Amino acid sequence: MRVAVIGAGVVGALIARELSRYEAEVLLFDREPEPGFGVTKANSAIVHAGFHDEPGTMRARFCVAGNALYPEICAELSVPFRRVGALVLAFTPEEERTLSVLLDQGEANGVPGLMLLSGAEALAREPRVNPEVRRALWAPTVGITEPWALAQAAAENAAQNGAQLRLGEEVLGIVVRRGKVEALRTEKGVHPVSAVVNAAGLYADRVAMMAGVPFPPIRPRRGQYILLDKTAEGLVSSVLFPTPNPLSKGILVLPTVDGGILLGPTAEDLPPEEKEAAETTREGLFQVLAGARKLVPELPLTETLKTFAGLRPEPEGGDFVVGESSVRGFYQAAGMRSPGLTAAPAVARSLAEAIATDLGLARKSRFNPVRPPIPRVEELTEEEWDRLIKEDPRWGRIVCFCNQVTEAQVVEAIRRGARTLDGVKFRTRAGFGRCQGSFCTARILAILSRELGRGPEEISLRGRGSELVWGKVRP
Ligand SMILES: Cc1cc2nc3c(=O)[nH]c(=O)nc-3n(C[C@H](O)[C@H](O)[C@H](O)COP(=O)(O)OP(=O)(O)OC[C@H]3O[C@@H](n4cnc5c(N)ncnc54)[C@H](O)[C@@H]3O)c2cc1C
Repeated sequence: MRVAVIGAGVVGALIARELSRYEAEVLLFDREPEPGFGVTKANSAIVHAGFHDEPGTMRARFCVAGNALYPEICAELSVPFRRVGALVLAFTPEEERTLSVLLDQGEANGVPGLMLLSGAEALAREPRVNPEVRRALWAPTVGITEPWALAQAAAENAAQNGAQLRLGEEVLGIVVRRGKVEALRTEKGVHPVSAVVNAAGLYADRVAMMAGVPFPPIRPRRGQYILLDKTAEGLVSSVLFPTPNPLSKGILVLPTVDGGILLGPTAEDLPPEEKEAAETTREGLFQVLAGARKLVPELPLTETLKTFAGLRPEPEGGDFVVGESSVRGFYQAAGMRSPGLTAAPAVARSLAEAIATDLGLARKSRFNPVRPPIPRVEELTEEEWDRLIKEDPRWGRIVCFCNQVTEAQVVEAIRRGARTLDGVKFRTRAGFGRCQGSFCTARILAILSRELGRGPEEISLRGRGSELVWGKVRP
């Protein structure tokens, strides 16, 4: 039996991994050259607790279940995950009432450990918080992770277990006969399949239509961010939320897994056709600043590293669309807006189990859930690093000084599937540091060119159209 997953974001990659537990031929398609280059590459990276979502929704169910799976999945896949907890801060009596609603909602959803704190208790946990805080909701199960790394690690582990990664291959059509999926048509040919999973992020509406399944347009909701460098580490130790508004969870201040501080996101509804409009704007960034200062008045903005934006795939009605559709064999994990990252492991498990039952797939006797890490120099002792250098001198050649990434790590990232500069960055953090690639980009480009046997002009930042060099200026 052959099962295809369309979309190698965090959702599709985890689905492919779950499917690779079964005796089936699993194909994971993405039109991008690497996993995690869609919505997954730009978001808040929070593993939510589940108190923001109305009880009874798919969001609530899969968010709480997904959160519980994170420690195990991240340990298996060697992806960073830290349960830092979160505070929702209330500054007015009305916001205090919202905290009680969130508490009730969270308890109804089965979120463990929620607790209301006084303003003084919140300040004791987070001394940089605006001293006008009156009360706070503490959620200890909130965590932070690296979504792009999770997508890449899940795809890699799926491939370790036999899945075929068909990256850089866009799905153009779906063949349905007598109400049942029969094949996929891509840029490269026709693939007969017994089942298809639509995990196409912002484009899930278009993919659904390919199968003749009606799907109201998915609207992009843009979120802009400001990222502060590791030098701001310690400003806050947990995720700080304001009370939510009808559009979003509001503008947050939170730590990132590698020690930075993230401010944002905005929530701007864009027309359905603007699915690539991930630019930042002056107004948006000022909105981020105002929102973040409401929570933490003194922000070290001189430590600003970069600004960026992501697009949430907002479905009509606001809930995820998960399960089999009206077309037999056509399953969906669509409308995966926030908390889609959190929900992804639980959605993946549930869909894979449903497909396995429907197709009568047996479990593999030898599924290996472990994807070994690429060692990080900053996590090695001097003796360990020394030993690696003796085995392979490329461990001694630093390519990215900001994040101490060596040539050996870059080569290993390429061996595991990196084909672009962003692919190397997402796997090793080279280029994520203070200089934002000013020093390492040319070096990594040269290593990619050498290892892949391609001309430097064929190496891109993140796929076709983002090549960095045109040719030699000197002989
Ligand atoms: C601003 C913002 C903040 C967020 N914050 C959080 C958060 O803190 N916590 C949380 O839980 N969630 C958060 N989310 C939501 C989370 O990021 C998404 O739910 C999740 O990344 C969606 O992953 P995905 O795999 O469904 O989509 P994607 O990552 O977009 O993957 C879909 C893939 O499908 C591919 N594709 C599309 N069409 C085709 C085709 N025809 N053929 C082949 N491939 C195709 C695309 O190239 C893409 O790679 C946030 C989102 C945003 C934008």
